Amino acid sequence: MSAGQRTQASSALSVQPIIVLFFRYMPEFCDVALPVPLDIVFTYRVPNGMQPVVGGRVLVPFRQQRMSGVVVELHDHKPNVQTKNVISVLDSAPVLDDQLLKLGQWIADYYLAPLGEVFRTMLPLSAEFKRTIGYRITEEGQLALHLAGMSGSSARSRKTPEDQLAEFRVLDYLAERETVREESLRAATRASQAVLAGMVRKKWILREDLSSARDAARTVRVVILKSAEGKLNSNRQTLIDTLAAAGGKVSVETLQTLEVPRTTLGTLVKRGLVEIVEEPAEFTMSGLKARPSPFDFQFNPAQREALKRIQNSVSARKFAGMLLHGVTGSGKTAVYLAGMRAVLEAGRSAILLVPEIGLTPAVAADLVQVFGEEVAILHSGLSDPERAEQWHRIKRGDARMVVGTRSAVFAPVADLALMIVDEEQDSSYKQEETPRYHARDVAVMRAKMANAAVVLGSATPSLESYFNAKKNKYTLLELPDRVEQRPLPEVEITDMRQEFQETGSEQVISRKLAEEIRERLERKEQVMVLLNRRGYSPVVLCRACGKTLECKNCAIALTHHKRSHRMECHYCGYMAAVPKTCAHCGSEYVYFLGTGSEKLEELLHGMFPQARIARLDRDTVRGREDFERALNALDEGELDLLVGTQMIAKGHDIHGVTLVGVVGVDSALGFPDFRAAERTFQLLTQVAGRAGRGQTPGKVVLQTYFSDHYAVQYAAGHDFAGFYEKELRFRSWMHYPPYSALANVLVRSDKLDEALRWSGVLGKWFEKTRHEGIRVLGPAAAPILRLKRDYRYHFVLKSASREKLNALLRTMLTYAAQEKIPRTQVIVDVDAVWLM
Ligand SMILES: [Zn+2]
Ligand SMILES: [Zn+2]
Repeated sequence: MSAGQRTQASSALSVQPIIVLFFRYMPEFCDVALPVPLDIVFTYRVPNGMQPVVGGRVLVPFRQQRMSGVVVELHDHKPNVQTKNVISVLDSAPVLDDQLLKLGQWIADYYLAPLGEVFRTMLPLSAEFKRTIGYRITEEGQLALHLAGMSGSSARSRKTPEDQLAEFRVLDYLAERETVREESLRAATRASQAVLAGMVRKKWILREDLSSARDAARTVRVVILKSAEGKLNSNRQTLIDTLAAAGGKVSVETLQTLEVPRTTLGTLVKRGLVEIVEEPAEFTMSGLKARPSPFDFQFNPAQREALKRIQNSVSARKFAGMLLHGVTGSGKTAVYLAGMRAVLEAGRSAILLVPEIGLTPAVAADLVQVFGEEVAILHSGLSDPERAEQWHRIKRGDARMVVGTRSAVFAPVADLALMIVDEEQDSSYKQEETPRYHARDVAVMRAKMANAAVVLGSATPSLESYFNAKKNKYTLLELPDRVEQRPLPEVEITDMRQEFQETGSEQVISRKLAEEIRERLERKEQVMVLLNRRGYSPVVLCRACGKTLECKNCAIALTHHKRSHRMECHYCGYMAAVPKTCAHCGSEYVYFLGTGSEKLEELLHGMFPQARIARLDRDTVRGREDFERALNALDEGELDLLVGTQMIAKGHDIHGVTLVGVVGVDSALGFPDFRAAERTFQLLTQVAGRAGRGQTPGKVVLQTYFSDHYAVQYAAGHDFAGFYEKELRFRSWMHYPPYSALANVLVRSDKLDEALRWSGVLGKWFEKTRHEGIRVLGPAAAPILRLKRDYRYHFVLKSASREKLNALLRTMLTYAAQEKIPRTQVIVDVDAVWLM
């Protein structure tokens, strides 16, 4: 490893006081957390005159690159290795305040993640230090251009004509402009990097590193339409039409989403039909349509009580954890927003976290209606510059109400009073890459550090949160009734084993469900059918040799997608042609088995040809707009039947749906994952909650092969407490969370022998190391042995003591480093949500 490193542990995040004597004193060194997979911080020398701050970013040399990192300490301890100099200071004031620095350190410790990678996740400012190179013309270049223009073609003879023409184009393009970014220049002139490098050597152009020019990056590149004249090929015409339709101005990013080769834009620039300019980034909420009075703030007694408890906790200015357990349709969101409004009126800040799919444009519009300009909305659809702009609005204090998905937990609000996590059990709160943090747990920790109140809300709380409430770590607030006294839907279980015996064949849609659908359609009511598996057929089987068609990169069967006519891996995205013969034995007896949502839609079309049917899954929904469009169509009565995956369980109120059919959700119960029952219970409860939220009572037909399973039984009975007690006993016997801390250690490599060797090395180490009070299971092949080309072996560690568990994991990582196992190939997942 390179010079100037210190261990994370030895550089506590103490903030050095700024000592003002007779001169402004600046320590000689700074420790910087860099976004690299190493559990250390790096020491750099601070050149005279530079003033980095703890919590601010600096640009530093790292190996052959420039990299920006966060300063964690300023000091005068000369390291015993040579240090390099800081290149530039990016922030004169901290971008991470004291509290967020501490929170980052906590995450690094708790999840065993490199501190620099944690900070990178916390700061959505990558758009501001993307490596940017610019070029501008020199006087020599102007002269060369002038000479080339006078002497015509003769001056170009000594070199390849193409390169010389490119040089000419570059000079011509730069002659009238200030510094131009490399990508724009190359798009416009088609000059290769070699040509540009040659021109730099001849001193015709100057190359500038714009990486540290922070404010310049808070701009977006937009394309401006200059002329729509002339004949164009279809790709070019597409771009021109898009521009014209948008009023002549569209961001480059938007145009890049069109299915047109990227070079097309460059061609249009070259022809002078369009121009690329930089404009200040500006996030507008225009185009969002607010619904009339989206929230009813006329509360029932339970809502009023919950709000009062939240407000009291907020004004106490001490940490308080609350679990808001409210059945589906009980008006939790209105309670959240009322709580936030009170915080806003008191001049303080609040953060509301929502699951990935929760933030549709309509929800955003509702939030703007409630909070006006004071709200910042952070969702995964934002581009990097948009995200950065929202971050600055929050940091400046312009937006004190923050609503967003997972990473909004790091929003740089000042004076945090209230943190809310909606649908706290949702698995999208767990980040499945380094740092593998759980936003709910980080939210609780941040609230603790800020002496704020935290509210976890759910109709189906996670076992962990409900356990904490029962143990009085959290106050339990309950909303036991649906608003306006609407009844919970009746759930009827259809045993599919019996259905098979009585009909003599495997059914996708039972007679009972078919009959209920028919009735609803006759009464002009609406139906949702859930099948949590997309595609047409999930398995392709050869009847001759018994082999299935697997993904090239994963030990996973490829799914047949009929409409797009291809085979697809749902884990890595690999695609293949639909086989006519078996890839293993050449037999023609290739069978497509099982049912996905695409086939279900087709089946329903066949059974109910008159019905207007749509499907909602990742194949039909590209963005949250599509998602909302489908739900709106249902809401406005343009659809009779909506088929879909778990996405349909998560929408907002649809008033006309009186029947929900559940098909094949129980297959998850067979997964080798201790959370399978909990997840199935949650999904069933959520989707059941879609039925009958309007004035008509709803019904759910739940088809299952596991009709006796407690997750199915308790979901049918709307009995959360019953499920919780039963599941808790299982967790207790098996020493699973919440009775123990759990970590999954995954060892992976694209070479099987390496994966085996490394897991063997670690297995032996776990065996011979004394670790009292910790159970180590493994090494074992991961349930998905091969994923995205990597072979995977894993260990599951459980302990009643989190301290002991983390200490062991830390020692293991040190040992793995000694054994030269790359840090990126040993994945430590603390509080793992998936063990697959
Ligand atoms: Zn075969
Ligand atoms: Zn795959």
